[in-house]
Amino acid sequence: MSGTAISLSGLSKHYGEVKAVDDLDLQVAEGEFFSMLGPSGSGKTTVLRLIAGFEQPTAGRIELAGTEVTGLAAHQRDVNTVFQDYALFPHLSVRQNVEYGLRVKKVPTRERRERAEQALASVRLDAYADRRPHQLSGGQRQRVALARALVNRPQVLLLDEPLGALDLKLRREMQLELKEIQREVGITFVFVTHDQEEALTMSDRVAVFRDGRIEQVASPVELYEQPASPFVAGFVGTSNLLDEALVGRPGTWAIRPERLLLGEPSPGAQSADGEITEVVYLGAATHTIVQLDAGPTVTVSRPNSGTAHLAERGARTTVSWRADDLVSLGSAPTRPTEEE
Ligand code: ADP
Ligand code: MG
Repeated sequence: MSGTAISLSGLSKHYGEVKAVDDLDLQVAEGEFFSMLGPSGSGKTTVLRLIAGFEQPTAGRIELAGTEVTGLAAHQRDVNTVFQDYALFPHLSVRQNVEYGLRVKKVPTRERRERAEQALASVRLDAYADRRPHQLSGGQRQRVALARALVNRPQVLLLDEPLGALDLKLRREMQLELKEIQREVGITFVFVTHDQEEALTMSDRVAVFRDGRIEQVASPVELYEQPASPFVAGFVGTSNLLDEALVGRPGTWAIRPERLLLGEPSPGAQSADGEITEVVYLGAATHTIVQLDAGPTVTVSRPNSGTAHLAERGARTTVSWRADDLVSLGSAPTRPTEEE
């Protein structure tokens, strides 16, 4: 990856007592698919609005492609935003919707046409140019909104939970498609979501937000395999937290459900006894919840094969793991589930 598309330094936005964004430092590379992930109210939208220029920061500095833009108006920044609530003009055709921005900017008809065609092709809607929005599916309408932003050929595209209104199946399809479109057009995408699966699916890197600050910035693999804090371990996927007494080493430790085994431990593995309190069949996998005699409750995940038989609620079992699969979360004793 070449240069830096976005650079935020010491960025803060305070609304009275509320520190919506609190002394944030972040760099996004050109051409990157970058996601901001975090619970509702953690400051993701505010950061996008600051980058777009819809809000001015309380403190700090924003650079786009190496040039400071802090203080500039939204229309002076080479950035476009796609919202979840993407109001299309109902009385205009798909093509006219996509061309609208260029028409306002007085781009000549010929060029307008060409750019709209290109934008529609990039979201695979070339065949739908003459339809009206109400003749499209939800996913297609979302793609028109995307084309409407792409037609401006911005350096950076900001997307604020753009798939939030779609049902799960369509959402998953659109996730893969968005990633593909981004790869093709090569524009830097900054994608906001509260859905950890969505962030992991699409992103080159993810920033995990909490209370206006960033807990960790990492690739999806690193975020999942090496969470930097109990909060990240709890927010990204399911994590089991084991304490010193179980692990035999000081600090708090996390381990993923698929790294735990049920039954007779293999040689060299660590283990703990407990009682099965719940068996959750999920189709592709089964989650078995075990209350360990030593205290914590853990989730064990197994992929289902045709012959698998489910463990019984109330049965005694042994949970085991390899010490190598434990991730150190430092000495913080907090449990992420209690912090929400
Ligand atoms: P997210 O997008 O992660 O859900 P937001 O950036 O929308 O979070 O909000 C972060 C915090 O800032 C929240 O506590 C929210 O209530 C507060 N906030 C956002 N916009 C305003 C505003 N215009 N006035 C007052 N508080 C705001
Ligand atoms: Mg938001």
